[in-house]
Amino acid sequence: MARTRRKIGEILKRWGVINDQQIEEALATIKKTGQRTGEALIELGYAKETDIAKALASQFDMEYIDLDQPDAINKENISLLPADVVKKYLVLPLEQVNGRLKVLIHDPMDLETLDNLRFRMNCEIDTALGARTKIKEYIDHLLGDAKLDIDQTVRALTLDAHAHSIDIQTPVTETPNETKKDAYDAQQAPIIRLVHQIITSAINSRTSDIHIEPFFDRVRLRYRIDGVCHERNRIPKRTHPAVIARLKIMAGVKVEEKRIPQDGRIKVKIHNEIVDIRFAVCPSHHGEGCVMRILRRESAQVGLANLGLQDDTRQAFERIIRRPNGIFLVTGPTGSGKTTTLYTALDVLNQPNRKIITAEDPVEYNLAGINQCQINEHIGLSFARVLRAMLRQAPNIILVGEIRDKEVADVAIQAALTGHLVFSTLHTNDAPSAITRLIEMGVKPFLVASSIQAVMAQRLTRILCPHCKVPDPTPNPRLLRLCGFRERDLQGKTIYKPVGCDQCSSTGYFGRKGVYELMQMNTELRELSFKRAPINQIRAAAAASGMRNLLGDAKLKILDGLTTPEEVARITQVEGTFEFNDEETSHG
Ligand SMILES: [Zn+2]
Repeated sequence: MARTRRKIGEILKRWGVINDQQIEEALATIKKTGQRTGEALIELGYAKETDIAKALASQFDMEYIDLDQPDAINKENISLLPADVVKKYLVLPLEQVNGRLKVLIHDPMDLETLDNLRFRMNCEIDTALGARTKIKEYIDHLLGDAKLDIDQTVRALTLDAHAHSIDIQTPVTETPNETKKDAYDAQQAPIIRLVHQIITSAINSRTSDIHIEPFFDRVRLRYRIDGVCHERNRIPKRTHPAVIARLKIMAGVKVEEKRIPQDGRIKVKIHNEIVDIRFAVCPSHHGEGCVMRILRRESAQVGLANLGLQDDTRQAFERIIRRPNGIFLVTGPTGSGKTTTLYTALDVLNQPNRKIITAEDPVEYNLAGINQCQINEHIGLSFARVLRAMLRQAPNIILVGEIRDKEVADVAIQAALTGHLVFSTLHTNDAPSAITRLIEMGVKPFLVASSIQAVMAQRLTRILCPHCKVPDPTPNPRLLRLCGFRERDLQGKTIYKPVGCDQCSSTGYFGRKGVYELMQMNTELRELSFKRAPINQIRAAAAASGMRNLLGDAKLKILDGLTTPEEVARITQVEGTFEFNDEETSHG
């Protein structure tokens, strides 16, 4: 666009909303806070959010839509986008014409959202502009989102003129809900309340990680629920240092140290329960960011029924894990639930007459009656060394956290061939690849052929919230194709879609279960391993022997109404790109 964009202040001045002096004041504020002009004007109380939105629309030559007008938009059209997309990106679908989708957005500069929408919906996106708060209210109203308390606190903070002068030096050690009213400076109260609400809201919504990420002009707050990050309300940029300082105090790390990453633990009492949180703060270009991992006791619950195995797979799984010897491998990327599967197997096998020993990095949950050993490479406690030491203790069953190299593989195979049952994991995408991966590592093909009993590949898929899922009368044909459905597979079947309710924190999903691919070794597969056959031959032989692959298993879950084509497409297609790329606070 050749035309120079008029500054937003000038537009508002021309409209008679603000005067020169107010613009100067806003500019001075921006210099200090790094806010956008609009944000500064709203906070100074010189303009309303709707004024800014109108001015932005004018500046960017966009259509402005006033949601306060009755029938401003067609409510029915909200179903043009999945509920999770609408909530995640705060966009309202307006209409679909000639394969182009028109949406109402609140930030013309947010090209990332448009990119994501284009990718997700596989079509071109047109835009109109509205005020953020109005859009959010509209979405909450239509999709029944229970408002988070954070909203109100953030609003209160935005209105609180004193909040920018918060004193962050005074240490406050009490947990927020036990703090006595007069024990701290009154100006800290909103920050303490905000931090408390950020944590409470995370715990109430089954969040596993909280991410606070500063950018040039905003601070993003994201919650990871069932493995997927959801953006929550933004934290006002100028309160960000105080929020981080408060968290640092709670985590017992140095408040004034801002140049190096620090780790700590936060314990809070919420709903009469002590919750343990692992805290990591890290400097970034626009201030300190932090990740909090909520450690929950109930996540250690294991049980064969919880895995979500199909009946036939479950029977085979039980048969395999009861063998006296051999290797059972579980494969998949980080965060695909491998550890839970292995712990479930150990839990089934955990009897007084069996001796079970594990070598893990890290030890994730404590299992009663099982001897667990933490690997520590720094002091020479490598997997291979621990494994050799373990064998001297005459166990029946051994769990090796991960086969990382030939040395570990060799010891594990020796154990398997001398009468032990060995469980371990490997980083491969599917089950047949485990065979070729071990041979590539340098393990002798005849050892692979003789020791491996079975390989199970897995992924985690989010399960539709049973409280709010509804049949999808028009499932997306592209996604159905991606999942490998043919028309006749779907005859007489119902595909469901997510909606979002209070029970599932408006995500439409509740919890995750695995999709699995269980390859049991047979004579043919052993021969192919022995001959170093290429991966496609091994895969074909596994399929011929009746192995249901990951996608096949996922399709059964869709047809059972447990998950959606969209979710399955996400875990098979997007894996390794943005959704799964968030930094992990754990190892790996
Ligand atoms: Zn729900």
